[in-house]
Amino acid sequence: MKQRLTVLGSTGSIGTNTLDVVRRHSEDYEIFALSAATQVDAMLAQCAEFKPRFAVMASGAHAQALADLLKTNGLQTQVLQAQDALEQIASHPDVDAVMGAIVGAAGLSPCLAAAQAGKRLLLANKEALVVGGALFMQTVHANGCTLLPIDSEHSAIFQCLPEDRSTWGARIDSLLLTASGGPFRQRDPATLFEITPAQACKHPNFSMGRKISVDSATMMNKALEVIEARWLFDVAPEKIKVVIHPQQIVHSMVQFKDASILAQLGTPDMRVPIACGLAWPERIESGVARLDFTSLAGLTFEEADAHRFPGLHLSWQALQAPEGTTAVLNAANEVAVAAFLGNQLRFDRIHAVNLATLEKLQPARPHSLGDLLALNDEARSVASSVLERFVA
Ligand code: NAD
Ligand code: MG
Repeated sequence: MKQRLTVLGSTGSIGTNTLDVVRRHSEDYEIFALSAATQVDAMLAQCAEFKPRFAVMASGAHAQALADLLKTNGLQTQVLQAQDALEQIASHPDVDAVMGAIVGAAGLSPCLAAAQAGKRLLLANKEALVVGGALFMQTVHANGCTLLPIDSEHSAIFQCLPEDRSTWGARIDSLLLTASGGPFRQRDPATLFEITPAQACKHPNFSMGRKISVDSATMMNKALEVIEARWLFDVAPEKIKVVIHPQQIVHSMVQFKDASILAQLGTPDMRVPIACGLAWPERIESGVARLDFTSLAGLTFEEADAHRFPGLHLSWQALQAPEGTTAVLNAANEVAVAAFLGNQLRFDRIHAVNLATLEKLQPARPHSLGDLLALNDEARSVASSVLERFVA
């Protein structure tokens, strides 16, 4: 039986890598639905190749443009425009697996819909889990959803852990998340104010979406990943550690109670964790070059510099604070990064916006998706007003 797949965010970096793996296995996977924000031409090409039943665009105008083009090209894909279209394609009874590859809190509702419908959920969209927190995991467990991490560090940890999650608590000593350190790992912190969006988006090892590229440069990406790990693996925040490893060959590690460490290694290419999630517990060809150990100059590890990367520690602080605080941190960071990418905010002030937003908003405990979405909106509006103090 073919696995029927919905790809949320199919035109992005993770989305296109997902389709690249699927393309190699057309006998095992079939695309049920695709979604994108505004990239009509890319979506048309994907519809022509993968013939999904549904395609969803983020606005009515883009949906109409796509529908017209599909018609002109004689393609049968139906374009959905309803407000809840993403939730529909994520929870449709004919879907087996959902790839959550939208960027930001915008992916929360459809990922939760997939979890609620008990799907196999391949989660790249870390912000959904950072915002959703305990509620997200309760929804996963209450509905028999199989949650497969796609973020490379979390996929690595997942692969190092025993399959029986009831043993994790007793066996895990700590989780060691590796980080590339981004493009400014060795740059003089005093010069970070002059970083441009183009410089921040030039990651040393990967080509990624613009938001995660900026997050990698500030190491807020790792902060979000600490929070993601806390929820995925149900470990106390103090048991999650970060170590910089610029070569990105070791994708993360688990230290067990007896001090033994298991690591997952390989060529840094997102198609590996994607293929792993698609086939789990089986293994399929990912299309990625095998790692040649003899050509490696060396593997190095170093501590993350708290002066250069002040945002990293906000993760542990937010996890110690009342529930909902991680959602506030995520919203502030989304607003600050968008302002930086729009040339409104200096790179070295992203952290200041995040910190000031956290100080200004003490959230009430969220009890539902509605509460989470309201909190996200409130935090975005606080961050936007805070931002005015910091714009150049
Ligand atoms: P991207 O910007 O390349 O792609 C994002 C996708 O989501 C696009 O298809 C876009 O059209 C869609 N989208 C954006 N905003 C939307 C909205 N408001 N509503 C609906 N759709 C929307 O981003 P990416 O690099 O592919 O990252 C996607 C997610 O995966 C992020 O959460 C990121 O943190 C995570 N991730 C990415 C990588 C990577 O290597 N790129 C690695 C690990 C985790
Ligand atoms: Mg990662």
